[in-house]
Amino acid sequence: AIYGPTRGNSQGLNINVADQRLPLQQQVAGFYKQRWQACPIVNGSAMETGTALPVRAPQDRAIQVGSLFEADSETVAQAIQGAQQAFPRWNGTPVKERSAALERAADLLETHRAELIALCQLEAGKTLQDAIDEVREAVDFCRYYAVQARQLFGTPVTLDGPTGETNELYLQGRGVFVCISPWNFPLAIFTGQVMAALVAGNCVLAKPAEQTSLIAARAVTLFHQAGIPGEVLQLVPGEGRRIGPLLTAHAGITGVAFTGSTETAWQINRSLAARNAPIATLVAETGGQNAMIVDSTALPEQVIQDVVASAFTSAGQRCSALRVLFVQEDVADRILDLLRGAMAELTVGDPCHLESDVGPVIDEAARRTLQQHISEMRQQARLIAETPLPPDGEAGCFVAPVAFEIKRMDQLDREHFGPVLHVIRFKAAGLDEVISQINQAGYGLTLGIHSRNETTSRYIESRVRVGNVYINRNQIGAVVGVQPFGGLGLSGTGPKAGGPHYLLRFATERTRTINS
Ligand code: GLU
Repeated sequence: AIYGPTRGNSQGLNINVADQRLPLQQQVAGFYKQRWQACPIVNGSAMETGTALPVRAPQDRAIQVGSLFEADSETVAQAIQGAQQAFPRWNGTPVKERSAALERAADLLETHRAELIALCQLEAGKTLQDAIDEVREAVDFCRYYAVQARQLFGTPVTLDGPTGETNELYLQGRGVFVCISPWNFPLAIFTGQVMAALVAGNCVLAKPAEQTSLIAARAVTLFHQAGIPGEVLQLVPGEGRRIGPLLTAHAGITGVAFTGSTETAWQINRSLAARNAPIATLVAETGGQNAMIVDSTALPEQVIQDVVASAFTSAGQRCSALRVLFVQEDVADRILDLLRGAMAELTVGDPCHLESDVGPVIDEAARRTLQQHISEMRQQARLIAETPLPPDGEAGCFVAPVAFEIKRMDQLDREHFGPVLHVIRFKAAGLDEVISQINQAGYGLTLGIHSRNETTSRYIESRVRVGNVYINRNQIGAVVGVQPFGGLGLSGTGPKAGGPHYLLRFATERTRTINS
């Protein structure tokens, strides 16, 4: 393959097989009573700044998982200075040493898998399956970028030139990168951004989402243990609204990798542009208003399985998640009947319990925003189905999966980041209108197509502008090196995470000409 460096992704396990699951489950449960702490880690030292804020489990606000000490402007300034000073040395370190550090980090993530799974469950409300997948993805990012970096940064490209002259092109780091990562993949995306920037030769200031700083702090400790120097990787946790501008306004920052909302990406872009400083790179992966189109040739049972997985896995808190399901009129009643049945089967509840299919949303603010949207939908749209809430769910931030039928996509003014599905019927002759509704929304992340008519699926694929198209399957769970992930338009800048071109955006190119 042109793009496939030889490398295997990490091994999963089948949690439906008790023999495979039980040993891990026991190890994970051993961490349920542990309490963690996150604080700025600057130039290799943990700093207990200010007052400790309690970090609570989204499924039960009475559980305090740990405490967060937020960075302040002084620690941020120290971290930037330390990273700037460390850059020439790290950038000059042979790439094979940087890659080896990533591989050691992957090994350590695997060694500490049970603890990291417990943290993902307690701090981010992840189900066991989601938490297992989360750790695997983090491991895969490390190993994938390590191999990619050796190839891209290892040997200069020799270029044709006049006789007597040698011309070469090679890659280097850009300087100091800020990595601002989201709570919905608190380990995987955090690790992916940080490792991509580091292996390319940059120093990194990591600013994880305030909701999931404990996981990030634990990961940073492991990455330092793996041999990444404390000056090279700095952790500055805290509230995005406060810490973000301190980072992006600083003239010493040469790049930002951001995953989160489109609104925050605009703010970051404006803040970078307002500096009288070298023009910084922005790698942004933002939201989606992701659609699936189902025509009358699709297999209904398969459609339902994929709709439920795409819309409600991780409580719909994936930027890849299905938000708007377009169903061809002739099959719509049958599909919606099946959907009602499938949604009645889902169990919402404590993500540490194996029977829970859908855990909580991340916090009270998210629950309130989603409930507001759901009550508006109850007024404006037709309720199709609603999964029951857990009877004892009052202590947690639960939102039950719900589906509404609406008329047009522009009834939705923005992305609603949770388990809310919107369904729109269309006539066979109205396919172009469906495509134009999707494109007009302006996002471009994932698209699902269910059709056994190849001409139809090709037609749709060629006209809808998105980064990831999934045909006759679900549209979530992109795998590192297999489905490079990321969108365009309001969904992001590209390049794709877990893809062969990702590291290039973290690098700068140099041409060397020698007259011999
Ligand atoms: N890569 C994830 C997926 O394919 C989504 C990432 C995100 O939500 O930011 O489901």
